[in-house]
Amino acid sequence: MNSLLMNARMFWRRTVDYSQEYRQLANGQWPQALFISCSDSRVIPALITSARPGDLFELRNAGNIVPPHDAPSVSGEVATIEYAIEVLEVRHIVICGHSHCGAVGAMVRNEDLSKVPGVNKWLDYARPALEPALQKPPRDRALLEYVQRHVAAQLETLSKYPIVKRQIAAGQLKLHGWLYQVDTGELRELDDNGEFRLQNVWSAPTEP
Ligand SMILES: [Zn+2]
Repeated sequence: MNSLLMNARMFWRRTVDYSQEYRQLANGQWPQALFISCSDSRVIPALITSARPGDLFELRNAGNIVPPHDAPSVSGEVATIEYAIEVLEVRHIVICGHSHCGAVGAMVRNEDLSKVPGVNKWLDYARPALEPALQKPPRDRALLEYVQRHVAAQLETLSKYPIVKRQIAAGQLKLHGWLYQVDTGELRELDDNGEFRLQNVWSAPTEP
């Protein structure tokens, strides 16, 4: 931890070379995307995407979960999503799940979470989508399949937000499902057929 603190104290020195870029950031932010990912320390959105300051508006929580827009209590998630779309006018939202996810693993393995009741309650938002597997988790299926199902379910929840529906219908917003492999760095994208696929790195993505 001390090394991290030292790095933070010295950070301004390393930004000197980018002083012009950093000064411009004081004028505002126009991020390219809202990036929703797990709090897991192995998943670093800026590292994966080579994003610069100002590129990504981030929403991170345990298990990259998107609560329903009409959940009984207001959440930071709903506020962040609304702000990104309505105020920052992001055109893309990425939900990025990852391999070896402790949150998805805990749900699939039906782990005892009595010592972390907040986590247990939080995961209730995501359990229904995994329900068939939770009742009888097949032993021979990798956790990765459940992470994929989980990401797809969070996308579905997100697509039900009124503001998301409206912007998609207007052609102003596109949703993306990603899957990051912690041990290889590979990234899979959810395609139109509902499959997470490795993409050819040499084929440039098309802008909507
Ligand atoms: Zn995770």
